[in-house]
Amino acid sequence: MADEHAETTGRCYACKRTFSYDPKEVELFLIDPETGLPPGITFFGSLRPAKPESVARSADEPVCPDCVDKAKRFHEESNQPPHWDSWPPSKN
Ligand SMILES: [Zn+2]
Repeated sequence: MADEHAETTGRCYACKRTFSYDPKEVELFLIDPETGLPPGITFFGSLRPAKPESVARSADEPVCPDCVDKAKRFHEESNQPPHWDSWPPSKN
């Protein structure tokens, strides 16, 4: 009887589509409104230490299951964290 899903709707942070979700189950990304990115990730997708002030102003944004899947698959396929060891690319 009390087995209700508290469904709500929101906009997916990644693909901007509106979807309904259970707030207790949905995948949330912490997004810094100033950069539009998670506090620990730079514009180039590399990692950096998250600044406390960046975390403080960040808000959780829901991400739809499709995008969560895509992100996981991308991570598995690339199988490598981004790094800049080989940047700039050498000429030979
Ligand atoms: Zn999405």
